[in-house]
Amino acid sequence: MDTGITGKVALVTGASRGIGAECARELARAGAVVAVNYHSSREKAESVAAEIEAAGGRSMVLQADVRDRQAVDVMVEEIIGRHGHIDVLVNNANIDFPIKPFIELSWEQIAEKITGEMKALYNCSQAVLRYMVPRLTGKLIFISSTLSRHPGYGFSAHSAAKAAVDSIARVMATELGPLGITVNTVGPGLIETDATAGLPSAAKEQTAACTPLQRIGRPADVAGVVALLASPGADYLTGQYIAVCGGAYMN
Ligand code: NAP
Repeated sequence: MDTGITGKVALVTGASRGIGAECARELARAGAVVAVNYHSSREKAESVAAEIEAAGGRSMVLQADVRDRQAVDVMVEEIIGRHGHIDVLVNNANIDFPIKPFIELSWEQIAEKITGEMKALYNCSQAVLRYMVPRLTGKLIFISSTLSRHPGYGFSAHSAAKAAVDSIARVMATELGPLGITVNTVGPGLIETDATAGLPSAAKEQTAACTPLQRIGRPADVAGVVALLASPGADYLTGQYIAVCGGAYMN
């Protein structure tokens, strides 16, 4: 089946593990050439790429700290050098943050999370837009969180940073729509990844019980929506926030 993504070039940041790795696999299954970005897990990124290639897909592995503008520019130049264009950005890398009550949070901790999240979004968007704007086509997909809209105890830093992602996405969608570029945000609920591995199983069971679809999420649940947003089926969709959380949070 032609998904309409065949031959498109997609960059997925933080694709060595978790949600990003599954987005990379799913986009490759749909026919995209996928750039698998990682920060420090080189072997894991290479094994994601190997899986893609073994399944008949095309990929490349690129190291870059997405908070570092120069490193991001080099990464995007490498993609352009090999493929000549870039069609999809999945801004996914998980910028670390402390989980603690607001009253115990230092200014440095909150500033580091907000700055890191915004730098990642800014650096990657600026770098790919340089090549999307002249072609009047492109899709930016930002991974946010339901915690940007629905409060969670101890998540001030994360919540504030992801709310900034949601907000800037709408402005960017307004500005870039006339240039043929869509900007959408995906807000996962609780998803089973390394990032949530340390959460007590009782907390996961409680979340599942409060979720209409009665389970917590898997990376594939998010990747399916990302692939849809990357496809021509979503060409008339921009500036939207899509919560992928089994209905635990409803817009
Ligand atoms: P994860 O399993 O912890 O994986 C994190 C990924 O991000 C890894 O590939 C890691 O690369 C990469 N990364 C971290 N810092 C980076 C940097 N500075 N530059 C480049 N890559 C970097 O995380 P996840 O749970 O899949 O989360 C992915 C996204 O979903 C994040 O934006 C997160 O906020 C969002 N999210 C997750 C959940 C959840 O419940 N899991 C819920 C809502 C939203 P290395 O392995 O190379 O270090």
